Amino acid sequence: MVETTKHNFLKNRCDVAFIKTFYQKLNQYYNIAFGELNSQIFQFDLQDFCSRYKFSVLKSYNALQILEKEGILSINYSFSKRSMLVISCSENEIYELVNTSYYKHLLQLILRTYGGITSYPTSIDEYFLAKQLHWSRSQVVKSLKELHKQEIVKYNYKNMFPELQFLMAREDDYTINRIARNIKQQNTLKYDKLKSVLSLIRNSEECISSQILRYFGEIDTKPCGICDVCQRKNTTKMTSKEISTKILNLLKDNQLSYVEIVEHFPYQKEETTKMIELLLENNKIVVTSQEKFQLKNS
Ligand SMILES: [Zn+2]
Repeated sequence: MVETTKHNFLKNRCDVAFIKTFYQKLNQYYNIAFGELNSQIFQFDLQDFCSRYKFSVLKSYNALQILEKEGILSINYSFSKRSMLVISCSENEIYELVNTSYYKHLLQLILRTYGGITSYPTSIDEYFLAKQLHWSRSQVVKSLKELHKQEIVKYNYKNMFPELQFLMAREDDYTINRIARNIKQQNTLKYDKLKSVLSLIRNSEECISSQILRYFGEIDTKPCGICDVCQRKNTTKMTSKEISTKILNLLKDNQLSYVEIVEHFPYQKEETTKMIELLLENNKIVVTSQEKFQLKNS
C-alpha cells in the first residue's frame, strides 16, 4: 500500500518539462496569446481541461499548486457562489406535489433539509441532495431546472468551478524557467506535496481523482482505475461465491452481528448485505434473539 502510494506519487510528480507543457496548455485553453496578461477571472473546469489535453487529474492538480505557490496564477476554491432555491408555489400546491409529483422525493428532501425554503431563497447543495437520493448531481440540477420551468420553484443555478486568474503575462518557457529551481527543490521535498494532496482526500473508499474533481466542481465522475483506492478496490473485489463462503466461515465459530460481518468486507458492503439476505432466505443462516447471525444448524 505504501509502495503504491509512493509509486503513484512519483508518477504524478511534476518536473519542469511537465510544468512548461501544462502552463502552455492552460494559456491555450483560455486563448491567451504569448506576452498577454489577461487578468479576467476564469471558471476552471479541471476535468474538461484534463480530458482535452490528456493530462492526469492528480498530476494537473499538483501542477496548479506549484503555479499558484510561485505566484503565476491564483486559484480560488471558495465556492461562495452556491445555487439559490425558493419554493414559489402555494402551500396547497406543494402539499399536493410532495405526495404525487414525479419529483416528490426530491421535494420532500428539500423541505426536510432546508427550513424556510418556502419563504425565502436559500443556498442549496446539489451534491448533498444527490447523495441522499442516490442520484447524480446532474439529475438533481436537471430536475430543479424542470421544476423552475413549471414555476414550482425559483432556481438560480450556479456551478461550483473554482476561479482561476493569471497573475503574470504569458511567456511560456521563460515564465517557468524563472521558477525551475524552485520546482526542482520542491520535488526533492517529496512528501510535502503528497501530504497536501492526501489532506484533501476525505474518504479512503472513493477514487482519488474523483475526489479531486469534486473539489473542482465536477461531480459525476467515473473511478479512474489507476489511483491507490481504485487499485485496492480492484484487487480486493470478491465474487458473490467468495463472499458467501467467507460469511459462512466467519459464522462457523461465532455468532456475529450485521456490523461485525460487514466490516470484513470494507469495499463490498452492498454485495455483502445482499448476500446476508440471500443466505437468510435460503435458510443457510438464521437470526438469534440477540439479533446476531448464526449458521442454521449450529
Ligand atoms: Zn481512482
